Amino acid sequence: MQEQVALLLELRQVDDRLREMRGRLESRAADLQRGEKEAGAVREALAQERSRLAQSESRHREGDREVEYCRASVAKFETQLLGVKTNVEYQALLREIAASQQKAREWEEVILAMMEAEEAAQRTIARIAGELQEKEGVVAEERGRYEAELALVKDEQVRLDAQRQELVARLNPLARSKYERLTANKGDAIVPVVLGSCGGCHYNLPPQTVNEVRRNDRVIQCEGCGRILVWLG
Ligand SMILES: [Zn+2]
Repeated sequence: MQEQVALLLELRQVDDRLREMRGRLESRAADLQRGEKEAGAVREALAQERSRLAQSESRHREGDREVEYCRASVAKFETQLLGVKTNVEYQALLREIAASQQKAREWEEVILAMMEAEEAAQRTIARIAGELQEKEGVVAEERGRYEAELALVKDEQVRLDAQRQELVARLNPLARSKYERLTANKGDAIVPVVLGSCGGCHYNLPPQTVNEVRRNDRVIQCEGCGRILVWLG
């Protein structure tokens, strides 16, 4: 095969390998990023649920103190009952006692509802914490895969860059600039002749062009798309 075309084919192989490697690394990075985002959302949900529970527990303690205070008041009024002189005083104390008892009952109802909500919140927290642990495990695995891929890519990149430089040095500047331009514009700079047509754009090539590609003594481009044509037999 003509040297320049052979060099271009080698260069394309190196470039394909570089592109494939970068693509794989990007996809690993995207997986990792998505996993981290998901774990972050779960962590956020867990923090919110814990903060809600802490608020409820704080209000719960306040309720406990209120109930205790009401009970102490009832005891104090009951002691005072023993010492009252008039019926008016007696009735007033009874009303105070009833009011404190009522208040204690109301708080107890609120506390009961809070306890139920707290139990439900504990269950939710346990579930979300489990979910988070699972997600973090997945993220750790993804991070490991990404880092392994990155190390691999770094080594391979050095090797391929050196190989690429060597090829480029042997290419004539015109062939090289054609190759670079076509790769940038078409994605694929070199295509085979398939049943007399261009393997890139399917342009039906004149028999003379096909023969020239077969002879392979210079770089031939498709008249339809400009890609460099090769004869693969
Ligand atoms: Zn073409």
